[in-house]
Amino acid sequence: MATSVLAILNQPSTDAAAHAPGAPPFALADPDAPHVTVSDLGVTRGDGIFETIGVGNGHPQALEAHLRRFAHSAELLDLPAPDTDAWRAAILAVIDALGPVAEASIKTVMTRGVEGDGRPTGWVHGSVSPDYTEQRTTGIRVVTLDRGFTHDVQTRSPWLLAGAKSLSYAINRAVLREAERRGADDVIFVSSDGFVLEGPTSSVLARRRTTLITPGTGLGILDGTTQGNIFRFAGEQHLDTAFELLTVKQLARMDALWLVSSVRHAAPINTLDGSPMPVDAELTLAMNEFLRRPEG
Ligand code: PLP
Repeated sequence: MATSVLAILNQPSTDAAAHAPGAPPFALADPDAPHVTVSDLGVTRGDGIFETIGVGNGHPQALEAHLRRFAHSAELLDLPAPDTDAWRAAILAVIDALGPVAEASIKTVMTRGVEGDGRPTGWVHGSVSPDYTEQRTTGIRVVTLDRGFTHDVQTRSPWLLAGAKSLSYAINRAVLREAERRGADDVIFVSSDGFVLEGPTSSVLARRRTTLITPGTGLGILDGTTQGNIFRFAGEQHLDTAFELLTVKQLARMDALWLVSSVRHAAPINTLDGSPMPVDAELTLAMNEFLRRPEG
């Protein structure tokens, strides 16, 4: 059974020429061999977009929502529109080649391509997921960190690409090292004017009594596919849902908190900025079971 599978797109966008005219839309390739050119703008400038899609028992989760967000990120970066049918076919072929693994993740990457060439580079990489049981049950310690932008950055300064899932994730990695220095596992970004935003690779979810809450859209944060699925779960469970602008003080008073994302799913926050938070074990288990369902 493969633990890592790669597909390379021949024509990531129909708005740009194919790499090999007349060849199939994608081909499986050796994931351990080199494939990207050193002058690819994805490598030299972080100029490109990506998605990470969870796979449970052979089924991609929220595939269409991920493909829509991929296309939206391309639009924000003025990249050619991804050929959704070619990407979907490549994703399904990679999942198929991975075989019957309990949990896997699929990463789709589209870069602006080699400087001056005009053709985007695209690939789909699938790999078997690590075991997240500990983080999904015991939970994670989280610190809040200033992102340095006001909460309305998306409308005031759209060129900063807040809300695009771009390849420029060095800051999203740096904050995890800062969290580790502070004795924590993960981070919640806060706007410079004090509002709760998102994690570096996750959305923030809170419970106040019987309402599940996430920070509103339009805050320069990603429209989380997992958060979207959990709001569907809330509908089934007769829980209310709300988008709310929250301060850190309000967050700390919630009945339970989670960071939610496609591959790790719902990780309860057991400590916020050094103070213990209650963990809702029962709801966490139910949410994670829902997210593992084929249609989750
Ligand atoms: N916010 C950021 C910055 C992310 O990178 C991610 C996912 O990687 C999310 C939120 C959660 O999105 P999703 O639930 O679609 O995985």
